[in-house]
Amino acid sequence: MEIITAVKGFKDILPPETDKWRHIEDTAKDVFRAFGFSEIRVPLLEKTELFRRGIGESTDIVEKEMYTFFDRGEESLTLRPEATASIIRAYLEHTLHAAESVTKLFTIGPMFRRDRPQKGRYRQFHQIDVEILGPDDPCTDAELLIMVIHFLGRFGLKSLNLEINSLGCLQCRPAFREAVVRFVRGGEEGLCGDCRRRIDTNPLRVFDCKVDTCRQIISSAPRLTDFICAACREHFSEVGACLTRFEIPYTVNTAMVRGLDYYTRTTFEVTTEFLGAQNAILGGGRYDHLVRDLGGPDISGIGFAIGLERLAALIPEEARGGAEGPFLFIAALGEKAVDKGFSLCNALRMRGVRVEMEYKTRSLKSQMKRANRLNSAFVLILGDREIDQNRALLRNMRASTQEEVGLEGLEETIIKIAR
Ligand code: AMP
Repeated sequence: MEIITAVKGFKDILPPETDKWRHIEDTAKDVFRAFGFSEIRVPLLEKTELFRRGIGESTDIVEKEMYTFFDRGEESLTLRPEATASIIRAYLEHTLHAAESVTKLFTIGPMFRRDRPQKGRYRQFHQIDVEILGPDDPCTDAELLIMVIHFLGRFGLKSLNLEINSLGCLQCRPAFREAVVRFVRGGEEGLCGDCRRRIDTNPLRVFDCKVDTCRQIISSAPRLTDFICAACREHFSEVGACLTRFEIPYTVNTAMVRGLDYYTRTTFEVTTEFLGAQNAILGGGRYDHLVRDLGGPDISGIGFAIGLERLAALIPEEARGGAEGPFLFIAALGEKAVDKGFSLCNALRMRGVRVEMEYKTRSLKSQMKRANRLNSAFVLILGDREIDQNRALLRNMRASTQEEVGLEGLEETIIKIAR
């Protein structure tokens, strides 16, 4: 019979890769705690309307990438393609804003986008998502960027580029948008089908197009810097000044528009040349009207999402942490030995010591081989004859030494060595 495989674009994350993932998640929780963030867990499934309103009708995500279905014909639901909209929904539903003027939240989990699967792009992928709701000052933007760079620094990653841009506000963006529309209409025949369609729906996305001819045309398009209002300009330069104060290198990329409609003012990405075409590890930005657009009060926000698959791909195996072998392998030789070993093995595990053993007695040689493969620190050799003589052999695999130990109080003896 044929085996059933996973759905295209949906990936298993196997051990020991999972050790690396846990290491990333633990580091995130550790760093985020110091910066005052709390964890929130939101459902994977939301009403489709939330993403339509939150992300924007004319974005690629909403137009063509969402997993949307009618739940028994009653209601349109969608597997979340990102976490920001869900977090704001929860923030409003539970009136978190009433209790605190600043709310700092993070969540870690799977997102779903029906994009074309390729290296670094999956249909189920995972994000670490971080949001600050409340303040709109540039220090908040800088604080978030300082945290991101510090977090990535914990993995010793090299050659990361922090790119920042300002997308302006409701005052200055419309004139910029109009100028871009006028400009691209001039060279419309040279644009790809997607971009031609975007002129009416989402013209700034043309900046993001990867098609060569579009890139060429857009390279001389107007930039927001020519239209930005004084308040946005000051906000942006303050963010830059804070980063400089922390000696965080960055480049201003005036062509970075990001794929979601809700961004205003500061937007950013961290990219690296080591990931190929899908070179962004994380992206984010400020969204000063999203809370209001989702039915809440006028509250600003800023956030980012890190792609876990892409970050994990950059972290070397040896940095994954927690991958050492068991402390003890019990090599039991004979029925009585298996009996005794079984009790000892599970008693030690219940006291927190990692122990492995096999219940089918195999030759000492093959059991030692397995202990080696598992990278066990110690092996307890337990034979029926040794049991009759009330003793066993404890082998230190790293030092290649062994000693005789009495069966009496053996659990305590091993606990003492393990601690
Ligand atoms: P976005 O939510 O589109 O701003 O993406 C934020 C980050 O999530 C990106 O920089 C990627 O690291 C990651 N990401 C987005 N889409 C995918 C995908 N389809 N597969 C894997 N990672 C993704």
